[in-house]
Amino acid sequence: MKSLNGFPNRRQSLTGFTADGDEIWIIRSISQKFYKCQGCYDSIEVGAEHVVVQYIGRLGGTEHSHWHQRCAEEILYPQSRSLRPVAAKESSRGNLEKRGRRPAGRRRKPR
Ligand SMILES: [Zn+2]
Repeated sequence: MKSLNGFPNRRQSLTGFTADGDEIWIIRSISQKFYKCQGCYDSIEVGAEHVVVQYIGRLGGTEHSHWHQRCAEEILYPQSRSLRPVAAKESSRGNLEKRGRRPAGRRRKPR
């Protein structure tokens, strides 16, 4: 598999699937408040670059968590399937909310 270290960045997000077949989107972000990393459970400070992981269920619905980029690279990427870079605009909040309102079979493929 091609290395995805360094992704996502400001121009490109990642998308793929969890082991359970839910869509996963991994997006570069700056924290607006204090978060706890879901990889190591340590803190992500305000203003820190990190990644937002957005899940979109097969049947619809969304949830998200915040991760240190390195924790995502080490823990999350190896558990995910078919991760690939896509243009960051594909992963806008509006686009992902819209995807979450449809079951998986009725979503258009991200470019
Ligand atoms: Zn972490």
